[in-house]
Amino acid sequence: MKVSQTFLPTLREVPADAVIVSHRLMMRAAMLRKLANGLFAYLPIGLRSLRKVERIVREEMDAIGSLEIKPTVVVPGEIWKESGRWDTMGDGMLRVKNRLGGDFVVSPTAEEAFTALVRDELSSYRQLPLTLYQINTKYRDEIRPRYGVMRGREFTMKDAYSYHTDEASLDETYQAMGRAYRRIFKRCGLTVIPVRADTGAMGGTGSEEFMVESEIGDNTLILCRSCDYAANVEKAGCKPDFAAPADLAAADIAAAAVPARAKVSTPSVRTIDELCAFLKTDSKKFIKTLVYKAVNVELDLSAAPGCAKLNRRAAAPDAPKSYPEAFFAVAIRGDLDVNETKLAAVLKASEVALASDVDVERLTGAPVGFAGPVGLTLLPVVADETVTAMSDAVTGGLEKDIHFEHVAYGRDFAPWLVADVRVVKAGDRCSVCGGELYEKKGNELGHIFKLGYKYTKSMNVSFLDEQGKAQVPTMGCYGIGVDRTLASIIEERHDDDGIVWPMSVAPFQVSIVPIKYEGAMKEAADKLAAELEAQGIEVLLDDRTERPGVKFKDADLIGIPLRVVVGDKNLPKVEVKARGEKEPRLVEAAAAAAELAAAVRKELAVLNA
Ligand SMILES: [Zn+2]
Repeated sequence: MKVSQTFLPTLREVPADAVIVSHRLMMRAAMLRKLANGLFAYLPIGLRSLRKVERIVREEMDAIGSLEIKPTVVVPGEIWKESGRWDTMGDGMLRVKNRLGGDFVVSPTAEEAFTALVRDELSSYRQLPLTLYQINTKYRDEIRPRYGVMRGREFTMKDAYSYHTDEASLDETYQAMGRAYRRIFKRCGLTVIPVRADTGAMGGTGSEEFMVESEIGDNTLILCRSCDYAANVEKAGCKPDFAAPADLAAADIAAAAVPARAKVSTPSVRTIDELCAFLKTDSKKFIKTLVYKAVNVELDLSAAPGCAKLNRRAAAPDAPKSYPEAFFAVAIRGDLDVNETKLAAVLKASEVALASDVDVERLTGAPVGFAGPVGLTLLPVVADETVTAMSDAVTGGLEKDIHFEHVAYGRDFAPWLVADVRVVKAGDRCSVCGGELYEKKGNELGHIFKLGYKYTKSMNVSFLDEQGKAQVPTMGCYGIGVDRTLASIIEERHDDDGIVWPMSVAPFQVSIVPIKYEGAMKEAADKLAAELEAQGIEVLLDDRTERPGVKFKDADLIGIPLRVVVGDKNLPKVEVKARGEKEPRLVEAAAAAAELAAAVRKELAVLNA
């Protein structure tokens, strides 16, 4: 293709609102234009690369037997009401009414649409397993869309949904998806960090996120310097940095040498820092106690301290282990923070949040800042594992301006529950190998997830098993953000001059730049382009009357992997240079096509291996 025949309005200036590299380069290289906040049009050269990512995704999905369909983007609100998500999706879901007053949704995701389709067609176990996917437009009404297509409102996603007779079949598809995802990102030339949910404290084997490192990432990752441990900070665990006694009896022995617990007056001292200064001690000697309110707790609290009084609305007779809300005291070593995601998992709660000051005072009998686990009768105490190793600690005294010194775990208080609820930080030790953990910001490009029965049950999907008995299928879902993958390739592969595409995603594979598009140079450039195109190589020939410097700058900005310069001085030789290389090589024009085609195929073969 000739530049004069395409639409390539490259920019020298960087748009003011483009703060990350991929956004800047996608605008400058004429891949994108903004229509409104979070809404972008792909121009021809950008669409070529987007389609290439889609093609890679499609090939890998097809290869594992996933079947592509094309559902609608606008779907009836009814199916969202059936699943229960009409009320829980919030304002991120764009709802519209049609002329008859019916509710519709512009799909932000498609569990409901696929499940409704499968429900209507599924009758027998013989139809399962079934995996369907789409590569289609999605819309999320982000409050603050930014970073170009990295966090836009409208975007392209590949989403697949699988349906199975049993867990083993779901696991087989889930594992195949994991392998396909690794191949997809490798073929796109991307380095991804696979993060499994089961690497942390939470158990389970049903979720894996594919992250790329990114300064603007929404996720904090905890990684090990010595092994491949990788976890989202929300779920990360670490090796204990303390020696815990085996049980309460052992804790008692450890406490034997500790002086008796004593009250100490601490007027107006509330924060840990103030207390450390006042008592001339270290935050690691302090047991911090925080009061949390948990919602929808699915844990049997009947034996928990204070519960009979507190959980008045608790325990409907048919669901004795479900509490609409309950309060807990969480005790943790003073230098650490409570990980609320882990805490919610431990309490089997849908949500946890710090209790209000009023609740804290009501439940601890003291102003905020003086809570402690000793003598706390109105609240079940959840102790972080670190607390079990503390035999001479400082705690709040459940009275204004009072703390306790010489508090020993076991001797002075016994928690209701011991669990790992700490936030893991850089510098902590890896639970797998003991290596040093560090933090990175990451962006999620893909996620595979075993959903189980959530949608198939709420939407009444069933099939007849071999015995003719009705069963509910189990389900998995698998997403990849296509625009985000494209932008992430640019984030990872660029230099000061522009994009450095991998061969698999480059809009064109070879650029031909005649110094002047006339005479022998025109003839040689046209001949080379024709030879390459005859071999199936994608060529962009710069036939403009611009100065050579301008053409070189554009070729580098667009990031085409191989460049050929055709100049008077060198003919019958031409200059060949790969995008990442400094110096060109001279090649006989007559041999250039064969050499370039071989180079393109070689790089593709490496990426596809
Ligand atoms: Zn490790």
